[in-house]
Amino acid sequence: MSSLYVIEPPLIPSLPVIGDSRRFAVNRIFCVGRNYADHAREMGHDPDREPPFFFMKPANSIVSDGRDMAYPSLSNDVHHEVEMVVAIGQGGANILADKALDYVYGYGVGLDMTRRDLQGEAKKMGRPWDTGKAFDQSAPCAAITPATQCGHPTQGSIKLVVNGEVRQEGNLNQLIWNIPDTIAYLSTLFTLEPGDLIFSGTPAGVGPVKKGDVLEGSIDGLVSLKTEII
Ligand code: MN
Repeated sequence: MSSLYVIEPPLIPSLPVIGDSRRFAVNRIFCVGRNYADHAREMGHDPDREPPFFFMKPANSIVSDGRDMAYPSLSNDVHHEVEMVVAIGQGGANILADKALDYVYGYGVGLDMTRRDLQGEAKKMGRPWDTGKAFDQSAPCAAITPATQCGHPTQGSIKLVVNGEVRQEGNLNQLIWNIPDTIAYLSTLFTLEPGDLIFSGTPAGVGPVKKGDVLEGSIDGLVSLKTEII
């Protein structure tokens, strides 16, 4: 059989959508660093309103549909970071903050899983964060709730429970860069495309996971995330 490609192209990573049998095709994953003051402090930084900074994960790092996450190789210090995920539905560059929410399709709960030891080494050496942040299965993510159903959350609890015990807890109203400002700024650096996800930062309480841990991330008004580390 003839094909356009010399090798079979990979399947497009995707997430379930609440209230729809169709899925949200994931394009790129942008992550905001240090976007909650108490987390910036626990990482040894002074929170301020410097422009936000971004790093990326590959789309195929998504773990969806409640699947297990394999503990990654070459790390002994893998941390959880629960985050609100913004799903971009419409592309654009230089988006104005007061129009930014028009570009959002919906919201979800995600985990920016981090090889903290490799990230720490990279920071010390002035090297990129990719091995610490962008590894296989580093982005477990719950189903996307369309904004037509959940609105645009600006406050409410964001929480991570590990084996029934609360590890991270914060409120969306503690974001240093709120969602419109984040989208506006990110869109000056990259032309946003439909299918892009933005992991918007994590509250305090990050810490290590081990095999067998069951992680449950939740945000008021959104469908929660559950994954087991295997
Ligand atoms: Mn993060």
